[in-house]
Amino acid sequence: MCTSNSSPDLTTIARQLESQGPAAILRWAVATYGSSLTVATGFGPEGVVILHLVSQIDSRVKVFYLETDLFFEETHALRDRLQTRLGLTFERVHSGLSLEQQAASYGENLWQNDPDLCCYLRKVIPLRQHLAGKLAWVTGIRRGQTPARANAQVVEWDQTNGLFKINPLVFWSAEQVQEYTRIHNLPSNPLRQRGYPSIGCWPCTRAVQPGENPRIGRWPGFPKTECGLHLSVRSSEQNPKDAQTLVDESEQISRGMK
Ligand code: SF4
Repeated sequence: MCTSNSSPDLTTIARQLESQGPAAILRWAVATYGSSLTVATGFGPEGVVILHLVSQIDSRVKVFYLETDLFFEETHALRDRLQTRLGLTFERVHSGLSLEQQAASYGENLWQNDPDLCCYLRKVIPLRQHLAGKLAWVTGIRRGQTPARANAQVVEWDQTNGLFKINPLVFWSAEQVQEYTRIHNLPSNPLRQRGYPSIGCWPCTRAVQPGENPRIGRWPGFPKTECGLHLSVRSSEQNPKDAQTLVDESEQISRGMK
C-alpha cells in the first residue's frame, strides 16, 4: 500500500501498475485510497474513458470538475449526458470568484492579457483547495499530450498539492483512447467534429485546420500549453505576486471583503 511520499516502492509500484493496464490501475487506486481518492475530469476524451472505467469499478467514487464559468455550452451538455449514462455524480468545484469580481480586481478579459494568472485564479487555486486533505487524485493526462507531460508516471507524488497523483492513461496513445471510445460507444464533445481537438474555456480555444498541431487551438497567440494543473512549477513563479498572496486576495474578493 502506497500512502506515504517517502515510500521507497513508488517507482516499483508505478512500473508494475503500468504493465497491468488502466482498469487495474484504477481498481488499485480505489482499493488503496478509498474515500480519500478523487477523480478529476475536464470532459475530454481521456477523461471520458476514465469516467467509464470508474463507473464499472465503483460509482460512488468521488469525481469533480473545475467550473471556470467559461465552458462551451456543449461541454455542459456532455457533462449532463455522462452523469446520466454512467450513473456518476460530478462535484462542481468553483473558485468563488465571479467573472465580474475578477474583471474588477484584475482587469477585463484577463485571459487576453495574463492567461497564466486567469488559470491560476480559476483553476489552480480551486484545485489546490479541493485536494487539501485527500490522499490521491486521478487525472487523464497522457505522456504524448505536451512536453510537460512526457515524463509523467502512472503513480507519482504531486509536490505542488501534497498528495499522490494517479495517471491511468499516461502510457496510452491518442489512438488507443479513440479505440476505447469507439468500442464502448462513449459520448464526446460535438465540437470535436467541428475542428476542436482540444477543448477548454471558450475564450482560449479555437478550431484548428487539418495538419495543424492539435494543441495550437489552445491559448492561441500565447506560448502557453498548460493551464498549470499538471505543472510541478508553481504558476506563481511566473507571476509577480506570491502564490499565497493571490490565494488570500481571491478569497477576500469572492467574499466581498476587498
Ligand atoms: Fe482563463 Fe483561459 Fe485559463 Fe479558462 S483557459 S481559466 S479563460 S486563461
